[in-house]
Amino acid sequence: MVTSAHVWSIDSDGVHVMVGEADGEGRESRCYRAAAVVLATGAHDRVLPVPGWDLPGVYSAGGGQALAKGEGVAIGRRVVVAGTGPFLLPVASSLLDAGCAVAGVFEAGRAGHLMRRWTVRPWELLGQPAKVLELGRYGSTLARRRVRYATGCAVTAIHGGQRVEAVTVSRLDASWAPRPGVGETLDVDAVCLGFGFSPRVELALAAGCRLDDRHFVMVDAQQRTSVPSVFAAGEITGIGGVDLALCEGTIAGHVAAGGRGDDSVLRVERRRRKVLRAFASRLQGAHAIGPKWTDWLNDDTVVCRCEEVDVARLRSVVETSESLSLRSLMLQSRAGLGSCQARICGRTVEELLLRTIPSHRLVGEGSIDRRPIASPVRLGEIAQSRAFEVEG
Ligand SMILES: Cc1cc2nc3c(=O)[nH]c(=O)nc-3n(C[C@H](O)[C@H](O)[C@H](O)COP(=O)(O)OP(=O)(O)OC[C@H]3O[C@@H](n4cnc5c(N)ncnc54)[C@H](O)[C@@H]3O)c2cc1C
Repeated sequence: MVTSAHVWSIDSDGVHVMVGEADGEGRESRCYRAAAVVLATGAHDRVLPVPGWDLPGVYSAGGGQALAKGEGVAIGRRVVVAGTGPFLLPVASSLLDAGCAVAGVFEAGRAGHLMRRWTVRPWELLGQPAKVLELGRYGSTLARRRVRYATGCAVTAIHGGQRVEAVTVSRLDASWAPRPGVGETLDVDAVCLGFGFSPRVELALAAGCRLDDRHFVMVDAQQRTSVPSVFAAGEITGIGGVDLALCEGTIAGHVAAGGRGDDSVLRVERRRRKVLRAFASRLQGAHAIGPKWTDWLNDDTVVCRCEEVDVARLRSVVETSESLSLRSLMLQSRAGLGSCQARICGRTVEELLLRTIPSHRLVGEGSIDRRPIASPVRLGEIAQSRAFEVEG
């Protein structure tokens, strides 16, 4: 096993890896040529922009969770957690454990919608007692600690001078448009925002794998992608939690190593995968992002924080450019060209541009997930690279 290894590219020569601490001195460059490749690059938090989300004190839900649970760090004295999905509950629970006061958990989905989607085919939930109990545990922790949990609400503005001082919480309609005049201000010094996860598919795209219309890598029952000998598992094929990722990884690894997807040794994983995928699609249905969230943006709301591109800039590029391609519009606006390479803002920029551009003007494929270099690498390291083959 090779640790501290960063795959920075996949091409016809093979899988290019830098071995050594990220951005450290003396990293070793390798190129692996393997008979099969299993991709399991995971996902990162999706955060929808809100006026003021570029203030210090705003965290992604995953970032807040990692600091609170992993490091025991209290990210603020009084924190709100907002967004959508059951992940908000463990985040709030970890914040409490780390010593934060949680001023509220605000789920954007409305209660009726959540209830309908969560209880569709209720017998399937019986196959998931552990997940249901886990959620129940978080719910009872919040209730015991008297943390307010509200549905159909979102943080629609974050206020402060040098850092977060308060938030506006608005009630939303069914499409997530804020209802005028129905809002409140809460004094807080930190905010956690989480709207699900976006898959990290740059390596899959570099390998030529086909994505579905939600940008996940398409796989068959054996976890094979559209490219022969390239397999995918975990969050890049759909967001379903750690247990589903483990099942898929076991199946992908077995088949990639020469086994068959229908081998009896995989019986348990196949069954669990089916149940867990059904649970994942229940979550997806219940916590899909509403189309009118963009109503809480202002012209000067920053969309790309790395390059400080705001809503007005995106709109003016669309209005003044003759360009017909999504990618070229992004390049002109500079959105997504900063250090995160559109990992945080890409999906949002794409969505905003697609809404602004008359659809008849768009041409070509414009995936914002295409990044020729998947992890930072120095030019000198590439120049010194030496290839060797791995048997397999
Ligand atoms: C803070 C947090 C808490 C969570 N808590 C829970 C929970 O309580 N229960 C639950 O079911 N799920 C939880 N999840 C989700 C769970 O972690 C994921 O479902 C699961 O880890 C997905 O597995 P994966 O293999 O797809 O991706 P990951 O576990 O994310 O693994 C992907 C790996 O690929 C590596 N990688 C990516 N690109 C490259 C590259 N170019 N080169 C080299 N390596 C690369 C990443 O560094 C990472 O180590 C949580 C997630 C987060 C962020």
